[in-house]
Amino acid sequence: MRYWRSRLIRVFLVLMAMTAADAFARTALEITADSSQLSLAPYTGFYHDEKGDDDLAAADRHVREGAFKPLPGGDGTTFGFQDGAYWFHAVVANRDNPEDKWLLVQEYALSDRIDVYAEYSDGRVTHSAGGDHLPFDQRNLRYRQPNFWLNLPPGQTVNLLVRVQSESSMQVPLTLYAPDAFIEQSRDAQFAIGLYYGILLALFTYNLVLWLTLRDASYFWYLFHITAFGLVLFTLNGLGFEYLWPRSAWLADHMVPLSICLALIGMQQFARTFLELKQRWRFGDRVALGIIVFFVLLGVAATQLPYRTVVPLASAAVFPSICWILVETVLVLRRGYKPAKLFLLAWFLFLLGTGMFSAIAFDLLPKNFVTEYGVQIGSALEMLLLSVALGYRYAALRNENERIVREARDQLEHKVEMRTSELRSALAQLEDAHHRLSESSRHDGLTELYNRTHFREAFEHLLSEARNSRHPISLLMIDLDHFKKINDTYGHLVGDDCLRSTSNTMAEILAPYNALLARFGGEEFIAALPGMDLAQASVVAEELRQSLHQRPCVSGDLIVPVSASIGVHSVDIAAKNSIESALQVADQALYAAKAEGRDCVRTL
Ligand code: GH3
Ligand code: MG
Ligand code: MG
Repeated sequence: MRYWRSRLIRVFLVLMAMTAADAFARTALEITADSSQLSLAPYTGFYHDEKGDDDLAAADRHVREGAFKPLPGGDGTTFGFQDGAYWFHAVVANRDNPEDKWLLVQEYALSDRIDVYAEYSDGRVTHSAGGDHLPFDQRNLRYRQPNFWLNLPPGQTVNLLVRVQSESSMQVPLTLYAPDAFIEQSRDAQFAIGLYYGILLALFTYNLVLWLTLRDASYFWYLFHITAFGLVLFTLNGLGFEYLWPRSAWLADHMVPLSICLALIGMQQFARTFLELKQRWRFGDRVALGIIVFFVLLGVAATQLPYRTVVPLASAAVFPSICWILVETVLVLRRGYKPAKLFLLAWFLFLLGTGMFSAIAFDLLPKNFVTEYGVQIGSALEMLLLSVALGYRYAALRNENERIVREARDQLEHKVEMRTSELRSALAQLEDAHHRLSESSRHDGLTELYNRTHFREAFEHLLSEARNSRHPISLLMIDLDHFKKINDTYGHLVGDDCLRSTSNTMAEILAPYNALLARFGGEEFIAALPGMDLAQASVVAEELRQSLHQRPCVSGDLIVPVSASIGVHSVDIAAKNSIESALQVADQALYAAKAEGRDCVRTL
């Protein structure tokens, strides 16, 4: 009984409501044969239930009482952040469209709770609920935006009451679709969204590999930025709720401010590392750090404070924050940092896309694919260009490093060359010194003839040659006569002069015979005559003796006559006697010459 009574009351109310709707000149949304997609806004009235405690009966009463007003501007569906609940009312009538089932889609994904009441003329009332405070799997269609099936066969009229309550901004763009029309439009939208995330994913993967290989902080912050920005859009278009947190009302509420904060932190950090701001513009870097701190604090606050406090603040900070990145980029570019060029172009495209999207809201640009997906197109191009810019920057850094290494190597090579040539000249000097030293060790300081030591070595050599070739070799032992007397008479210096001049004479006379001449000690000389037998050597000795006579020693004004006694000995090359004994025999011959009156040649 009670049931019937309530049904009757309801039928009465519905009839009243429909009358009221007519009374307030809100025309019904008519579905005709060629309708497929209809926006509810021009046919919708709204009522703000500030406490949020009105039920369907109360809403019906308000309809009757004419409390529902047309939407702002006739079809405005955006009301900003609002307390309580909003009720929307529209009458929908299917005149002659053969389609029975129609899909009502709330084309804004973030509303917390939506209750759709359909009141049929037969008194039947259906209720379905949606929004991200209910689990995703309760949706009529598995779709990123809340949606509700309506049974609207031809000839059917329905009184539609929609209650929306949300922490997020109050936006209620309701559209009614025939099923095939919905499939077609969602197919295009899903494709565009898929393409966008496909690009983001490819860029992410590519740069992830680069980051893992290069370990450059810029790449990390690029990944951070692209992920967080992707998350913002993922959240805003309802995919976050659909795929990532389908049962979490808390995340559905908090991911908007959180992802915005993360994206802005990522953007600033990426700009700081990419532009090398710390080195290039300290002040700009400090401001960027300030912005980062602001977003970190806001992100933390977002977990505690109400959505409507944090989100407007975060949204308001986005634009100045991006502008600051542009300022940084332009400044660093003017200071000659070339990789900033592409960076600037990337952010410019991003702002252009976002700007175009915003311009639709102010009716400055017509709504078409490019303007509607401005944010996606702009950000995809931005991220693509940023990735290219990263590559360019890396190449520039590598070239710079290579240049430094090349310069260092050139400098090093130059230094090594210098050191080598210094070393070479030092070695040459050393060699020269060594040569001179060894020369002087072989020569007699006074007469410049060979000394006794060298004579022995060289004579040994000549002797073995003579033995090999079986040619004779002879020795002349020469001693100046009464030299002591010259010293005693004219002094040692004159004696030295005499030693020098007789040495020159002897060297000159013996040179044509290939003789080996040496000072043997004091005023005694020795000469080896290779290839000469005793007779030949005696002839040479005699020539020498006479030459000394003919060329007296000249010292200053003095002319000092000199004579020498010469002992001649032909070495027996077959006997294999020692040099010592050969010298002894030559000395004996000399002794004989001395003994026989000096100034003569004797042989042995
Ligand atoms: P003899 O005819 O017997 O050879 O008589 P001598 O005086 O030449 O022979 P002695 O061996 O008695 O003296 C050699 C002298 O030669 C002694 C020394 O003062 C002199 N004498 C040796 N070496 C040098 C030298 O380098 N310079 C000068 N000025 N005199 C030297
Ligand atoms: Mg003498
Ligand atoms: Mg002597």
